[in-house]
Amino acid sequence: MTTHSTMPEPSTDFATTAVHAGQEFDPTTGAVIPPVYFTTTFVQDGIGGFRGGYEYARGGNPTRDSLQTLLAALEGGDRAFSFASGLAAEDTLLRAILKPGDHVLMGNDVYGGSHRLVNRVFAPWGVELSTVEMMSLDGVRAALRPTTRVVWLETPSNPLMKITDIAAVAEIAHAAGAIVVVDNTFASPYLQQPIALGADVVMHSTTKYLGGHSDVLGGALVVKDDTVIVGADGAAESLADRVAFLQFAVGAVSGPMDAWLTIRGIKTLAVRMDRHSSNAQTIAEKLVGHPKIGAVYYPGLPDHPGHELAARQMKHFGGMISLQLADGPAARKFAESTKLFQLAESLGGVESLMCYPAEMTHASVKGTSLEVPDSVVRLSVGIEGVDDLLGDLLGALEQL
Ligand SMILES: *Cc1c(COP(=O)(O)O)cnc(C)c1O
Repeated sequence: MTTHSTMPEPSTDFATTAVHAGQEFDPTTGAVIPPVYFTTTFVQDGIGGFRGGYEYARGGNPTRDSLQTLLAALEGGDRAFSFASGLAAEDTLLRAILKPGDHVLMGNDVYGGSHRLVNRVFAPWGVELSTVEMMSLDGVRAALRPTTRVVWLETPSNPLMKITDIAAVAEIAHAAGAIVVVDNTFASPYLQQPIALGADVVMHSTTKYLGGHSDVLGGALVVKDDTVIVGADGAAESLADRVAFLQFAVGAVSGPMDAWLTIRGIKTLAVRMDRHSSNAQTIAEKLVGHPKIGAVYYPGLPDHPGHELAARQMKHFGGMISLQLADGPAARKFAESTKLFQLAESLGGVESLMCYPAEMTHASVKGTSLEVPDSVVRLSVGIEGVDDLLGDLLGALEQL
């Protein structure tokens, strides 16, 4: 790949990194935006003579590389890998680390699909799964087993916005020889950087805040060069190398258009997250004490049990809020009553979304330890005008 001496020096300011990392202008035309490389294969100058290091697009494509460089820079990791979806990223990571007999410890309110992946895809291959309340460090210590290879957490969690102390869990898990994976989808790297706090791997559904516009599915893993796993032959192997191999050998890669749309979304991540966070803070504060609301789950509220920890660990408190209705059964109707907050799965786009977890995002964990109370709705607060958003919520509450 061509690099240019005219590129600006790398910056330590996140907003600058989000616009520029991995985004060199096109040296042949001067195009400010690098082209999207719609090609599956690359010409060889004689057998094995690769001009830009590229051979076949499952193994590497310049647009995907440009996204991967950007993601590694944003999370402060050494290498990043991009996939067709968040779950494809998770699958590749777990394949890299686990073998039959190994144990995975997950937070008891992780994304339902992450739990389902281990519970229904890996467990039949001999992997053991248990869940724990990650806010309790004693609970985490007690739940670790000699066979625990992975500790998987999400903070803020979905949908109850519990906050886990990443540094403390990492210390405990590392002492037990486990790899710590943080699903950083809810916070985004602008608000929280788990690798700096001691995590080994950051996982993203880039479908959410990173893409940011609800128009492209994707997933990512960010890893460090010095994380070591037990390889197939029992010898130590670099996790980064193993993930790189599996990205190629399994092939759940992101296509060039998906990678490019994700890059375009990331350029505005800092300004979007500021706005998502300030809108959510305003809405959460205004809904506290409303007669029809039993509880507001938002880490930016001073009486949220994870508030101080979140203030230490995060830049702002993010755009996700959950509400418990005072009259529990009214939650379902409330979820169907807002207009600006559209009823839909997913989160992290510029537009506000309403979700009824018990029957939508968390339907797959009904009857497990991850079951969500049916009195709860979840809001993904968008970047619209906050008065319009509040008016929509208050109007729908009034009609209940
Ligand atoms: C959406 C989501 C995932 C799964 O990602 P996909 O891109 O839908 O495969 C994982 N974790 C969290 C927190 C999510 O919100």
